[in-house]
Amino acid sequence: MTLAASDSTNDRTSDSNGWTGSRRLLRLLRDLIRGEGASQDRLDKAVDIVSKEFHAEVCSIYVMRADETLELYASIGLNAAAVHRTRLRVGEGLVGEIAARALPFALADAQAHPSFAYRPETGEEAFVSLVGVPILQNKAVLGVLVVQNKTARDYTEAEVEGLETLAIVLAEMLATGARDGVDTTQRGDAAAVLPARFSGIALTAGLAVGRVVEHRRGVVPGKVVAEDPENELARLQTALENLRASIDTLLLRHDVAAVGEHREILETYRMFSEDRGWLGRIHDAVHSGLTAEAAVQKVRNDTRARMDAIKDPYLRERAADLDDLGDRLLRHLLGEETGAPRALPEDAVLLARDLGPADLLDYDLERLRAVVLEEGSPMAHMAIIARSLELPVMGRCRGVVSQAREGDTIIVDADNEQVLLRPNQSVVDSFTESMDAMARRRAEYAAVRDLPPVTRDGLRISLSINAGLLIDLQQMHASGADGIGLYRTEIPFMVRDSLPDVDEQTELYKRVLDQARDKSVVFRTLDIGGDKILPYWRGATDENPAMGWRAIRIGIDRPVMLRQQLRALLRAAAGRELNVMFPMVSEVAEFESARTLMRREIEREEGQGAPLPEKVNIGVMLEVPALAWQLPALLERCHFISIGSNDLFQFLFACDRGNPRVARRYDNLSPAVLSFLRSVVAQADAAGCTLSLCGEMAGSPLEAMALVGCGLRKLSMPPPAVGPVKTMLRSLYAEPLRDLVSQLAELPDHSVREQLRAYAIDHEIAI
Ligand code: PEP
Ligand code: MG
Repeated sequence: MTLAASDSTNDRTSDSNGWTGSRRLLRLLRDLIRGEGASQDRLDKAVDIVSKEFHAEVCSIYVMRADETLELYASIGLNAAAVHRTRLRVGEGLVGEIAARALPFALADAQAHPSFAYRPETGEEAFVSLVGVPILQNKAVLGVLVVQNKTARDYTEAEVEGLETLAIVLAEMLATGARDGVDTTQRGDAAAVLPARFSGIALTAGLAVGRVVEHRRGVVPGKVVAEDPENELARLQTALENLRASIDTLLLRHDVAAVGEHREILETYRMFSEDRGWLGRIHDAVHSGLTAEAAVQKVRNDTRARMDAIKDPYLRERAADLDDLGDRLLRHLLGEETGAPRALPEDAVLLARDLGPADLLDYDLERLRAVVLEEGSPMAHMAIIARSLELPVMGRCRGVVSQAREGDTIIVDADNEQVLLRPNQSVVDSFTESMDAMARRRAEYAAVRDLPPVTRDGLRISLSINAGLLIDLQQMHASGADGIGLYRTEIPFMVRDSLPDVDEQTELYKRVLDQARDKSVVFRTLDIGGDKILPYWRGATDENPAMGWRAIRIGIDRPVMLRQQLRALLRAAAGRELNVMFPMVSEVAEFESARTLMRREIEREEGQGAPLPEKVNIGVMLEVPALAWQLPALLERCHFISIGSNDLFQFLFACDRGNPRVARRYDNLSPAVLSFLRSVVAQADAAGCTLSLCGEMAGSPLEAMALVGCGLRKLSMPPPAVGPVKTMLRSLYAEPLRDLVSQLAELPDHSVREQLRAYAIDHEIAI
């Protein structure tokens, strides 16, 4: 397929991207949209124009209906009887696949594709090649534009791009279709009044009850075809300057803490607004004949299409930031950005498909109670900012936006990973009650904040928090924890756009130690690899990433990164105590290799006369069962051991910690686990080696009780768990519990959870 020779060759554009568009074609379509007549007529004319210009035997437009089916609305080349008759579900056939993925498809032999769905009424068996593009507006698929040829054609990227540009113009036509008779009516109202429940994943914890506020629907560019590209470029430039100034203003907002990764995220986000590749693509689209706003929208659609194919979570975040910048730039172009915080009603719960890192800060945060997203991931930049604001956020709640109406009552229960839309009053009452009870409990936990975590028979248990961001340090102080038992150093690496060098790392670790003040911090060296791929560290694509090339295995095989990290840690802790532990150590020899790297770094620093830490304690995470059979040799070599129960139990039971199908198959409170832990405690005690446990298990009061029963005296947990665990400890007699646990560890049962729970209730232990 090639574009027809234009009768005004000067009108044709060809730019560095290789996109050969025709301004004349854009104008023809634009005039069609603006002209008189019913929508059907205009869609019929549009397919006619496109098929002629593209020398295609078939051109069809499928329109997305309210029931999420794609209806063949207009076609040249397919049987006329199929128009308004052929319907495909989203995901069905090639057209459905294009809509489901919101991605273009170009196939030389469409019928050989596994998604091809044959519809005899269309007569499409005569056509071999197919290129289709989604008709997108504001991330919503309004339809699909398809071109087919009788011969097997290899469509070029420029041809696909050309169709995508035409799809922008068609989007305008379809978006106004309801007015002119195209049936895109919204889903019937029956579903919109019934209660609905959505499950998803908690991006930040918490509970809130409020009223739905829909995050602004994306903006719609009014005019898509430009008369004067120079004028459009000038408008673009002004909008970019305003955009940058508005991000600078967000950075100065006083309700966002002055330090922390969220500031860095905003700064990086601002930097992206200068990204040459992104700006270049927008300029190219303007040169092809689009207005500045249509050009931004086209590039945003492209970014979005590419995003779905990106596996690397970090790069996805980068693409998401660019997508969000595109939105913001569009609003500046359309004069919809006032710079003032967006007003919200009382107790607002914001619903959106996804939110960019700066979006939250556009709102009046005093009134915002929670956020619910259809997409999102825990490492999303927005989630990190929400954590700094202590705002509950639920992600991956599919369908919530389309089912909710502005003002609906909504319960966000991120603690149980569910969202309840239009709940009955009795449900609201019971949630309000449990929120009140939680508030009372929080007040009780605040009251024990300064009391020691000591059992009723006088055993002092050390309670620390697990952290990964600077903002977590505020929580350490607020919870009254003894320190940070696990600082996951890979997390700050994952929110940056390049590997922090030694100086940057030193600065970061110094800030952690400064903010921890007199409390101890245990730094865990990088646990990357597997699914935690950094853009500047390309690891292997392992079949079983959790058991693959990760953590200390990478550190030993490619020691530069680990040595730099150790050097930074030594420098940051100069004059103070440094605690470092290595993750995923499987054998003593591995620990020795890592310790040798540390020794070398100490010697190097000493050799250069650099100030050293007062003391360096080197520890190991016990996460791989094999290491438990080398404890005598290990315990005499290291200063401390921390049991990483999350990984340890997945390897003990051969049960993937991230697989929901087996998530509840085995119980941490089982005789096998208790025996294992008791044996480790006995050996560590005999060797006089400090032992702690820093997996999620330590954060549940019942589990923590069992751990104390196993003999553990140091626990590290997520910050909100410190209050409940301390309250439990202060109601517990530890000594008799040890006898119980030693008996339970001998049982043949699947789980001893119920016996432990009954014991707690009988003995009035606050679990
Ligand atoms: C663990 O495995 O228990 C642990 C604390 O490490 P992470 O959860 O970071 O793998
Ligand atoms: Mg682990």
